[in-house]
Amino acid sequence: MGKVSIGLRGWRFDEEAVFAADGTIRPLDNMDAETRERIVRLSAMMGEPCDCCYLIHGEEEIQRCNPAQAIYGEALGEVLLCDDHEADFVYWFQEEGGTRHAGERELKDRFHQWFLDGGRAPDGFELEHVEEDPEDVPEAPDPDEELPGLEEEIEEMDDDELDALDMDLSDIDFDG
Ligand SMILES: [Zn+2]
Repeated sequence: MGKVSIGLRGWRFDEEAVFAADGTIRPLDNMDAETRERIVRLSAMMGEPCDCCYLIHGEEEIQRCNPAQAIYGEALGEVLLCDDHEADFVYWFQEEGGTRHAGERELKDRFHQWFLDGGRAPDGFELEHVEEDPEDVPEAPDPDEELPGLEEEIEEMDDDELDALDMDLSDIDFDG
């Protein structure tokens, strides 16, 4: 069974657990709870700004933040990162004790604190998947394209379950 990232790098899913043979999303009811939770959160996070950019620029200058291209951490404790800041997170995780918080929602706050305290990956620390053309301005992924059929599936979820995921349909930026 193939593992795939959907929309954002980082989180991996079993392709067959998420998509039916026709490429549309499976009924959310049929997914295990963890997969369902992560899919719903993922859809809400696509198009959101990078956490580090946001820590630097804040709400007043949100237009200067890059859209997130990667997602790490646990559902409800996600860390969103642009191409520029992903290296800072990976460095923190691998070299600055971030692994201690693997699997915990607290990881997000710990990373934010390190970043706010001036933590950065050193020059020369590179991720393997660095894009060949750094001039390309990355675009935010579109949940409707990445997860076809999700909008209808979320509409059928109970409100209690959506509340537990801290979700509001208006968080999701479906085009159509
Ligand atoms: Zn950033």
